[in-house]
Amino acid sequence: MGAQIIDGKAFAAEMRGQVARHVARIKADHGITPGLAVVLVGEDPASQVYVRSKGKMTAEVGMNSFEHKLDAETSEVDLLALIARLNADAAVHGILVQLPLPDHLDEDLVINSIDPAKDVDGFHISNVGLLSTGQKSMVPCTPLGCLMMLRKHHGSLSGMNAVVIGRSNIVGKPMAQLLLGDSCTVTIAHSRTRDLPDVVRRADIVVAAVGRSEMVPGDWIKPGATVIDVGINRIDAPEKGAGKTRLVGDCEFDSCAEVAGAITPVPGGVGPMTIACLLANSVTACCRANGIAEPDGLTA
Ligand code: NAD
Repeated sequence: MGAQIIDGKAFAAEMRGQVARHVARIKADHGITPGLAVVLVGEDPASQVYVRSKGKMTAEVGMNSFEHKLDAETSEVDLLALIARLNADAAVHGILVQLPLPDHLDEDLVINSIDPAKDVDGFHISNVGLLSTGQKSMVPCTPLGCLMMLRKHHGSLSGMNAVVIGRSNIVGKPMAQLLLGDSCTVTIAHSRTRDLPDVVRRADIVVAAVGRSEMVPGDWIKPGATVIDVGINRIDAPEKGAGKTRLVGDCEFDSCAEVAGAITPVPGGVGPMTIACLLANSVTACCRANGIAEPDGLTA
């Protein structure tokens, strides 16, 4: 293996430490405790795990964590009423509605009902517009985490060729905007892209956000390129015993690590950075709401 491993777990721990120091300072200097409200509708097991670990880490950095667990049959009217209450609550600086929502709820309507200033996921249409026009916004956590790792590894990204595989609203598109903001030459590839291997081979930076296990092999990677693997895919792992599974990314780790200059592992790469960036966004939102100077290094 030639590539340097980008240790997202360690970087995320460092970032959470930084967040905790800012939280302590905001409490001491201003008497305000940053607060994050997480809303979970239904019993999706993966969402429950995410919400639990978000709550735990929110408390660990000294912020207030407000969890709202609603029944799967909750009506849109009731969910919107809860969001309106959280929008009006001065103790709540960030609001996150865990996705996906049950089918009877209109995700766009719900997300766009969050006060954009409290939209720590950065999915509100106003934040999407602000990001795409290069203005100050709340930046989606997963792409923000990827950008932070790339900046830490490379310093400046200016002039680099970046290929983002995947065009989702939560990862691919905002990732492309952030890379463009850092003066990369950006290509967004997707399911209809012709000759994807050839497109990827031109990249100095590859961000894979597809959700297909190990679809990017090492021979698509330009020697020395940096590979950020966003994908989280659970596959069977008979080698660990009957019925066991393991997590893999969208990139074939071993073959990519042979040629890449640097690569994020799965797990332990992008995943931990996503939660660290959620906490960072909550502190940023608290500072903006209270006219407190924003700490350096917590947002794009
Ligand atoms: P999505 O399903 O919304 O989007 C997938 C994208 O991949 C689509 O734009 C599609 O055009 C593209 N695509 C599909 N097949 C393709 C192909 N054969 N070639 C090229 N492109 C193809 O998914 P998403 O929400 O963006 O998530 C992508 C992956 O990232 C998933 O594995 C998800 O679990 C993971 N994820 C991880 C984190 C994290 O914190 N680490 C956060 C969000 C998403």
